Amino acid sequence: MIIIKSKKELESMRQAGLVVADALERLAGLVKPGITTAALDRFAEEYLAQRGAKPSFKGYNGFPASICASVNEEVVHGIPGKRRLKEGDIISIDLGAIVDGWHGDAAITVPVGEVDPEIMRLLKVTEESLYLGIEAAKPGVRLGVVSNTIQKHVEKAGFSVVRQYVGHGIGRQMHEDPPVPNFGRPDRGPLLAEGMTIAIEPMVNAGGYEVLVAPDNWTVVTKDGSYSAHFEHTIAITGNGPEILTRK
Ligand code: MG
Repeated sequence: MIIIKSKKELESMRQAGLVVADALERLAGLVKPGITTAALDRFAEEYLAQRGAKPSFKGYNGFPASICASVNEEVVHGIPGKRRLKEGDIISIDLGAIVDGWHGDAAITVPVGEVDPEIMRLLKVTEESLYLGIEAAKPGVRLGVVSNTIQKHVEKAGFSVVRQYVGHGIGRQMHEDPPVPNFGRPDRGPLLAEGMTIAIEPMVNAGGYEVLVAPDNWTVVTKDGSYSAHFEHTIAITGNGPEILTRK
C-alpha cells in the first residue's frame, strides 16, 4: 500500500531531507586520499546528532554504521572501516536521517582526487539518469516511465543498471511501497499521485549488471569487478511536478 503524505507531513520530510543534503555536502568535502571510510562515518554520526537527527541505517537489520560507504567495484551497502581512500578511487556515500520520525535518504558518488575519465563518465551518466528519472515523476505518470527513462539513459551510454536492488517509497519508514526499479517497461508500475514520496536511486555498473554479496553479508559488489556508481534523492510527487526533498 502506498502511503500518501499530507502537506504538513511533506513539510516534516523536507526537514529530514535538508539534514541529509547538508550532511552529504559536508561528507563530499571530506573525501580525499588518505581518509578512512570509518572517519567519514564518524563525521556523519556526529553531524546528525548535532542537527537533532538519527541515522536511518544504524541498527537497520543489524547494519553497524550511519553511512554506507561503497568503494570502486562495491555497489551499495559497504560497511565503513579502516580502508583508506586513495587517489583514483570512487566512493558512494549513502545516508539516511530521521527527523521527528520522518526519513530522508540520498546518495552520491564522489571521485577521490583525480579519477580515470571513463569512470568520471560513469558518475556523470548515473547522476544524469537520476535527474531524468526525477523529471519524469509527475502525477498521472506510471512509475515504469521513471524506471524506463533511467535505464534508457544508462544503456545508451554503454553502462548497465543493477537489477537486484531498487529504490523505494519512504516516509515514516525508510522502506515503504512502492519498489522503484531503475529498469523496466514504461507501462508497468503504479500511477504516480500527488503526496507520494519515493527514493529514486540508480545503481549503475561500468560492466555487466550482475552483482554479488561479499562475505561480510552486506557489501554488494559487481560480479565482473567493474566500478559502480550510485546517486539517490528522496522526492515528493506534487501538483507542480517532482520536488527533491534531499536538496538545499
Ligand atoms: Mg534508499
